[in-house]
Amino acid sequence: MYKSVIIGTGPAGLTAAIYLARANLSPLVIEGPQPGGQLTTTTEVENFPGFPEGIQGPELMDNMRKQAERFGAEFRTGWVNSVELGNRPFKLNVEGIGEVVTETLILSTGATAKYLGIPGEEVNVGRGVSTCATCDGFFFRGKEIVVVGGGDSALEEANFLTRFASKVTIVHRREELRASKIMQDRARANEKIEWALNRTPQEVVADETGVKGIQVLNNATGEIETIEASGVFVAIGHQPNTAFLNGQITTDANGYIVTTPGTSETNIPGVFACGDVQDSRYRQAITAAGSGCMAAMDCEKYIESIEHSVSMA
Ligand code: NAP
Repeated sequence: MYKSVIIGTGPAGLTAAIYLARANLSPLVIEGPQPGGQLTTTTEVENFPGFPEGIQGPELMDNMRKQAERFGAEFRTGWVNSVELGNRPFKLNVEGIGEVVTETLILSTGATAKYLGIPGEEVNVGRGVSTCATCDGFFFRGKEIVVVGGGDSALEEANFLTRFASKVTIVHRREELRASKIMQDRARANEKIEWALNRTPQEVVADETGVKGIQVLNNATGEIETIEASGVFVAIGHQPNTAFLNGQITTDANGYIVTTPGTSETNIPGVFACGDVQDSRYRQAITAAGSGCMAAMDCEKYIESIEHSVSMA
């Protein structure tokens, strides 16, 4: 039986692993099919403190992993199919490993950006198609950009991108926006933002040098239009990765794990959550790492408290 198991190896899970390993709790870290998480799909990370020249996303994650291993964290590859959190110790059914039994559990499975699923999109991720303005906006200085989506994320990303871009066109499939009024007002007041409403994305247009624009269906006229752009930012929401929990952990209306404010505690004592799976707001590597540290410290305290109550009995 493990004292602690961490599911997920993004910045949150790996930071939790470093802290728990240094506390001599020898955590098992379960790595899924995308070790390192979303950061391994970006190239240069320029906003993680401590790297004045920037660092490649995969390299940053590899460094964190090595740091956790150095202190005794055990890494195994597997896919968690289901968990049993109703009784103690907790049991995990992990494809590739088998049954894993643990006293505590840290959930750091992240969230997955939703994509449109149109031709030209997937093949150009990293070549002009992005789901993260904070990560990639800088590379589009002086260029024209398209942002797809009509929610708060899309408008926030569009506003942010006007710092770099010469023009940002928001493409949204309906006439009405889903975003809050304040975000709409802000975007409408921004002179660099143009609107392509009531237009459904059809295809990302690209050549060997990268993205050239996006083809959209004008829902009013039925015509296909091409909007020229060097970057297409898809901002149609994220899906937190919680399916394997099968409703045992409380989530909000959008599926994000609910933690007690100021802590990483979930509704089940001994189960903690950190990183993007519980954060729809900041979603940064550094905030994920910070919350991973919180989860490890909460977990350590919890283990101490159960060991103390056993020794008192
Ligand atoms: P969201 O509110 O679900 O909006 C997603 C947008 O993408 C919608 O406009 C939707 O169009 C569009 N969309 C979805 N699937 C699409 C598809 N296949 N093709 C084309 N368009 C598609 O997601 P979000 O903007 O990421 O926001 C998620 C939550 O986080 C919200 O509660 C939001 O308020 C919150 N948030 C808050 C802030 C802030 O307060 N600063 C910032 C970001 C996010 P339809 O409208 O037609 O469905």
